[in-house]
Amino acid sequence: MDCKGRYALITGASRGIGLAAARLMAQRNANLILVDVNEEGLMRAAEAVRAEGAQVLTYVCDVQDEHRVNEVVSDALQKVGRIDILVNNAGIYRENRSHFVDSNSDIWSRYININILGTMYFTHALLGTMLENHYGRIVNIASVAGVYGIVNMVPYSMTKGAIISFTVALAKEVTEHGVLVNAVSPGNIQPPEDGLNLPALSFANRSGTPEECAEVICFLASDEASYVSGQNYLVDGCRKMM
Ligand code: NAP
Repeated sequence: MDCKGRYALITGASRGIGLAAARLMAQRNANLILVDVNEEGLMRAAEAVRAEGAQVLTYVCDVQDEHRVNEVVSDALQKVGRIDILVNNAGIYRENRSHFVDSNSDIWSRYININILGTMYFTHALLGTMLENHYGRIVNIASVAGVYGIVNMVPYSMTKGAIISFTVALAKEVTEHGVLVNAVSPGNIQPPEDGLNLPALSFANRSGTPEECAEVICFLASDEASYVSGQNYLVDGCRKMM
């Protein structure tokens, strides 16, 4: 699978799954546009991705800020001419875990603004040019929470369920124009360096790695995935439902 000549924009690219996807795409010869709210992390990520031999542009951007999203997309398009691949990966999930009854609308809004609207803003900003080019790969990072629902993560589960529906519905509008839209739903994924392993969550008896997610993301982002659209790929080691 070679991504030579392709330009890929990845949000939340500073660490974790986003960084692993960026590195793998760089190894497959894509050029990268890395977006993250964390400037220091973004600079470190850019260095790691350049070390794989890729050309890299970086943008500090909070995906909830629609104006900034449009600015980033228009500047990147001006600089590189086209963006073929969009990976909507930026998301929050660690914050404010509690029973729904103990949550409040500030918490819900933050989850909605980042996890749902951030994905919609980037997709909307790039879709026109992908349709004009008759080529696009959009990979939305959802979650097993959006499929099964996870206790104490009700707002999060809702946002990821929305991403899966968004993916399927949008695919029906744009697939015939060469823009393929898919979701990837990770299960429990831990960077090995964090030293966390939760064997109880999967029949694989271990947590997955960002690199294992990146393999699926990069497949869906590739030319080879040419007849795959509107799907949600679970990368969860055969989840034990919790
Ligand atoms: P992560 O390690 O927390 O990394 C996410 C990156 O996104 C961080 O660099 C973070 O910046 C950035 N980010 C957060 N909010 C942002 C915003 N408003 N605008 C721009 N960037 C923002 O996450 P991950 O574990 O790699 O997960 C990536 C995606 O996979 C998320 O959508 C998550 O919901 C999904 N997912 C992950 C798992 C898992 O087990 N890891 C499971 C299911 C789904 P900061 O450094 O400032 O936080």
